[in-house]
Parts: sequence; C-alpha cells; structure tokens
Amino acid sequence: MTLESKETQSLVEKDRQNIWHHISAYNEKSHPMIVSSGEGAWVIDHNGNKYLDGMSGLWAVNVGYGREELAQAAYDQMKKLAYVPMTQSHEPAIELAAKLNEMLDEDYIIFYSNSGSDANEVAFKIARQYHQQNGEPSRYKFISRYRAYHGSSMGALSATGQALRKYKYEPLAPGFLHVAPPDNYRRPKGQSIEEYNIQRAQEFEEKIIWEQKETIAGIIMEPLITGGGILIPHPVYLEKVQEICRRHGVLLIIDEVICGFGRTGKTFGHRHFNIKPDIITMAKGLTSAYLPLSVTAIRKDIYEKFNTAVENSHLRHINTFGGNPAACAVALKNIEIMEKENLVERSAELGERLLKELSSLSKHPYVGDVRGLGFLLGIELVENKETKEPASIERVAKIIGDCKANGLIIGKNGDTVAGFNNILTLCPPLSCTDEDLEFMI
Ligand code: PLP
Repeated sequence: MTLESKETQSLVEKDRQNIWHHISAYNEKSHPMIVSSGEGAWVIDHNGNKYLDGMSGLWAVNVGYGREELAQAAYDQMKKLAYVPMTQSHEPAIELAAKLNEMLDEDYIIFYSNSGSDANEVAFKIARQYHQQNGEPSRYKFISRYRAYHGSSMGALSATGQALRKYKYEPLAPGFLHVAPPDNYRRPKGQSIEEYNIQRAQEFEEKIIWEQKETIAGIIMEPLITGGGILIPHPVYLEKVQEICRRHGVLLIIDEVICGFGRTGKTFGHRHFNIKPDIITMAKGLTSAYLPLSVTAIRKDIYEKFNTAVENSHLRHINTFGGNPAACAVALKNIEIMEKENLVERSAELGERLLKELSSLSKHPYVGDVRGLGFLLGIELVENKETKEPASIERVAKIIGDCKANGLIIGKNGDTVAGFNNILTLCPPLSCTDEDLEFMI
C-alpha cells in the first residue's frame, strides 16, 4: 500500500474543507478514499493503490470502468445536441425507449428521470393518479418491506423500510406501510422455505384487508432485497404477491434499480419469477452510472387512463434533466456492450462460480449463510451459528478493512436498527475477468 504523497494530502485537506460526503458525520480526522481512475473492475486511488471494486461503485458500474465507447457516445451526442426537455423529444430518447420496451416485451411506456429515487417517486404519483382516473380515488397507500431501500427523497424514503435512515427526517409522507420480508436463513425452525415464503406474502393481504383494500394504491418491492442484506425469496413469494395484488386491484411496482441490467443473471431481476409487474423502475446499470438517468416503465393500459379525452388527466410531472440526450446515448451504448459481450449470461456464470467457491466459507465459525443470485452475493456473519446472533459491527468492519488492505472493496449491508448490519456484500462489475474472480475468491 503506497502512503499518501504531499499532493494527496493537499487534496484531502481541500476535500475536508469543502465537501460534506454522503452518509457521513463531521469528523476532523477521517476522509474518504480519493479515486483517480478506473479500468475494468479496478479503481486506482490518488496514491496509485489498486482495488478490485467488488461493489461496482454503488451497485452500478455493470460494464466496468474505462469504457471508451461510452465516453465517445456522450461526446458525440453533446457536440451534436446537448439538451432537449422531455416535453419535446430526441433520437437517443426514442431509440432507448424502443430498446427498453423490446427488452420488456413491448408492454410498457417509458418515462425518463435522473435517479432511482426519482423513478420511484414517479411510480407513486402515476399509481395514485391512475386510481383517481380509474374510478377509485380513495386508493393512495403503498406497502413495501422492512429492510428494503427505495431512495432518499421523501416518498422513496417513506417506502424505505430501514428506520435509522428515516427517523430524524420524520414526519415523512403519509400512507406508506411496511411488512416483513422473507429472510430464509432466519425462518422458524422446522418450516419449509416454500411454506414460510407463502406466509410472508400473505402478510401483504392481511395488511390490505386491515387497512381497507379500497385505500391501497400499490405494493413496491425489489425482486430480491439488496441493500437490506441480499434476501432472495422463493419464487412462490413474488407469484403470491402478484396474485394478491391482482385480486385486490393493487398495482405491483417492481424496483429494478439494482437488480436490472444483468445484475442477477437475467436482464431484469423479476424475470426469475413468473410475474408481470404493472410498473418497473430502473437506474444505476441503465448507464452503468457513466451518466445519471432513470426510467419508470408503465404498463400501457395504465398509461391509457391518462387520456386527453378526459379533462385535466395528464401526468403533471416534469424534471429538467430526465432523458438527457447524452445520458440516453450512453445508455444505448451500454446496452449494446452488454449484448455484444453477453454480460447477462456472464453474470449468471460468474455468480454461480463465485457462490460455489464462497460457499466453502460456510464451514467457518463466523459464517452463518452464503447466498446469491447472479453476480450479487451476500455472506451473513454471525457470532454464534446456533443462535444466529449477528456478528458485531467491529468484526464486520475488521473484515471489510482487511479486504481493502488487500486490494478488494466489498460492502456491508443489512438493517442496523434490527441488529442485522452483518451481511458482507459483493456486486462486482459483470465484465470481471476470470483472474478478477480468482482474486476475489
Ligand atoms: N432503489 C433501490 C433498490 C436502490 O438501491 C437505490 C439506491 O441505492 C434507489 C432506489 C435510489 O436510487 P438513487 O440513489 O439513484 O436515487
């Protein structure tokens, strides 16, 4: 590990004086790593130290760093036409929407925004307005899951089920309710995974009935909980949730912000299950985070309820940067790279190999569970395998620090308030080489 040069120290000081970093408290001593460049799955800090980025930044850089084609796509588009508001249209937005819809079997209409939080806010607004214009104006509540993360803006944070992220900003938006997600590792002893998942899905129905079904607008969920600790449901879970939604006239919103674009070994995470979401949100892997862009994909028959034949029926939502031409051009090129290099298949293959290798860690006294879907894996650490007491924060921090000292960035996820901040996470670029995989193992 190369120590800090004078030049780095001066940058660090400037950083400390001027930047309030995300999720950070004021601290005179600590400072984040200053990253200078990236190539493939690797990033290089300002002192020249190399790290394999096992988290793809924030679960986002799916095609890896240093892609010249993406830089070129942005450059060409900016030179030709830098900006068009989405009240008008432009070629990259049109081509991208058509491409995404092709990936979604032509059943959706595409609405552009800037971030995952934005995309979820748009989904909530569309769901409420849809019910109003579909003769059910009392439907305004949303149900999501504890441990889930759906974004940082007020609505998306309200849907988030992690209390520590929320309680200092309350009151948040009214009408957001939560149920527990399936956590198969911690299911009651003696209960089959299938039976347990059906039971967890039925909690949605109970909530809908207790709250009076005519007040429920939608359910929002990720195909699998990512930031809350890689909680992978049994297929019956999502299928049952969809069946409950359909029976009670509730819209099913699937948050593909992390799970989309090959992360789980399929184009979209929900493709692992026999479901057809009413609304789908996407961001991160859409552009591999080279530029900000997000999408809310809405089933066409929902869109049709926003019909000009009805007075004041249009969606009153606008944002300045959504559908930015360069971002759309980058997204198109990003998807082209994914297809050319078979990155979805590669994600499935690499994920399976990594899961198999890491599963051997299960013998270790502190490893309670190893799980994953595609190139998205979690290792749940415990103090005691019998009681499943979550590993201490210090133990988890030590492992993450040791990995970093050896050139590997990994994540830590879960839900602190429930005591589960004990899941090591791996979400590397889908473009990892076989050597990268060996290094991680
Ligand atoms: N949804 C999920 C599942 C996420 O993980 C995130 C961010 O990590 C978001 C939504 C919010 O996305 P953004 O940070 O782009 O607003």
